[in-house]
Amino acid sequence: MTITAGFLAGLRDLVGPQRVYTDPADLVAYSYDATWEPASPDAVVRVASTEEVSRLLALAAEAEVPVHPRGAGTGLSGGAVPRGGGLVLALNDLNRTLTVDPADSVAVVGAGVITLDLHRAAEARGLFYPPDPASLGACTIGGNVAENAGGPRCLKYGVTRDYVLGLEVVLAGGAVLHLGGRTLKNVTGYDLVRLFTGSEGTLGVITEATLRLIPQPPARTTLAALYDDLTLAGETVVAIGQAGPVPAALEILDRASIRYAEAYRPSGLDLAGEALLLIEVDGPDSASVHDQARRLEHVCRGSGARQVLVAEDAAQAGRLWQVRRSVSAAIVRLKPTKISEDATVPRSRVPEMIRRLAAIRAKHGVDLVVFGHAGDGNLHPNIVANRRDPEEMARVERAVNDIFDAALALGGTLSGEHGIGLLKRRFLSRQLGPAERAAMRAVKMAFDPGNILNPGKALAHDDVAGEGPGAGQGLAADDAGVRP
Ligand SMILES: Cc1cc2nc3c(=O)[nH]c(=O)nc-3n(C[C@H](O)[C@H](O)[C@H](O)COP(=O)(O)OP(=O)(O)OC[C@H]3O[C@@H](n4cnc5c(N)ncnc54)[C@H](O)[C@@H]3O)c2cc1C
Repeated sequence: MTITAGFLAGLRDLVGPQRVYTDPADLVAYSYDATWEPASPDAVVRVASTEEVSRLLALAAEAEVPVHPRGAGTGLSGGAVPRGGGLVLALNDLNRTLTVDPADSVAVVGAGVITLDLHRAAEARGLFYPPDPASLGACTIGGNVAENAGGPRCLKYGVTRDYVLGLEVVLAGGAVLHLGGRTLKNVTGYDLVRLFTGSEGTLGVITEATLRLIPQPPARTTLAALYDDLTLAGETVVAIGQAGPVPAALEILDRASIRYAEAYRPSGLDLAGEALLLIEVDGPDSASVHDQARRLEHVCRGSGARQVLVAEDAAQAGRLWQVRRSVSAAIVRLKPTKISEDATVPRSRVPEMIRRLAAIRAKHGVDLVVFGHAGDGNLHPNIVANRRDPEEMARVERAVNDIFDAALALGGTLSGEHGIGLLKRRFLSRQLGPAERAAMRAVKMAFDPGNILNPGKALAHDDVAGEGPGAGQGLAADDAGVRP
């Protein structure tokens, strides 16, 4: 693939020269996401309308130039990293549409809108958009739909997919699709809305989403349960799943997560322990919330909690959640390279996964920190390391390998919410057999026969090798060894 001067001139005609970047200093900013291995694009284009996306994709398809859609670049699987070069399609400026319609309980949102802005707009009308990735202050709705993002509240309320009613999507050749709509029920034709949700930018570019909103729960509170043993906390997660009530969020933090988060931004609370469960409950009124909190406190104590704190007010609840939100930023103070996995297991297997993670940490001598959305089995084992230390990175590679093996052996999945992207595609064949991968490849080829959209992402590289301009990108690097 080469980007020719003629192609660049076409781009500049399309969006104006000020929105096409080729200066190496500008390209750096678009060469990475929240993972750790950058790759430079040949050019970046910032688009501001669906029509521009459509014309640009027609141009790129004709010139056979790979296009890497990008929201805010907070992805944790390398999905927006333009490995192999080509064009980064920056979609942040598709942020002018954000309307909330209480009559239909929907929001119509441009792909570049920041998730927190949607939350605030919905709340201002007494409505609630539950998906809440911890990155919600930075990530975009387009990125959330493309990754089918989750977050703490997805335990009770479901993931992004459960809220997408309609999508505007531009296909590789430039055709614009309007899929689904504002109705809560819709079974006309194949459910392409669901297909594009979670497609990681490989099937089409999402330009607008129609999202379902629900009433804002009027009351909520937070419990913090402290344990002397991480596995006991894991067993409590299983007990809560069986006893109910269903919390809005049920997060786990191991000792290292608590320690680093407290050192980074002290909560002022006494959270010393081997493990912390953070539990949010919500409901129609304070009596219902109080009753749920009491029942969950009982389950926690019955499962071995040393101490259970029920937040006295919203400010204290906020301080508790600050601990959880600080973990990612806090642990990189230990070492600069953070490998964030999201292998997910059935909830009943959370305690066993915790035991296996401890064994993996000991076996490979890695700095493995465990936190995450335990209520839905979506642990986030994070390894912090120094990528400039090859010996340490070799141990990290082996540990990551074992983490995926452990999750799959327990009936789990490679990714609960971060996607496959670049980083997990080499593991895909451990979870999906040849027939499943062939079916996915057929879908990819049906929508993007020239393989220009985010080539080399989400599918196993064998499955896209030899299929057009972006085929096999980065294969040499991937084949060189297991890379976290
Ligand atoms: C600190 C931190 C915490 C996080 N917490 C969570 C969490 O709790 N839950 C969770 O699910 N994720 C979490 N993430 C991961 C990340 O924020 C999500 O995956 C998010 O959805 C990515 O959005 P983005 O706009 O940054 O997308 P990007 O990173 O820019 O892109 C992600 C993928 O989507 C594609 N894409 C982006 N926009 C479009 C579009 N409009 N059309 C088609 N494809 C597109 C890209 O090509 C890429 O494959 C976290 C990340 C960080 C850094």
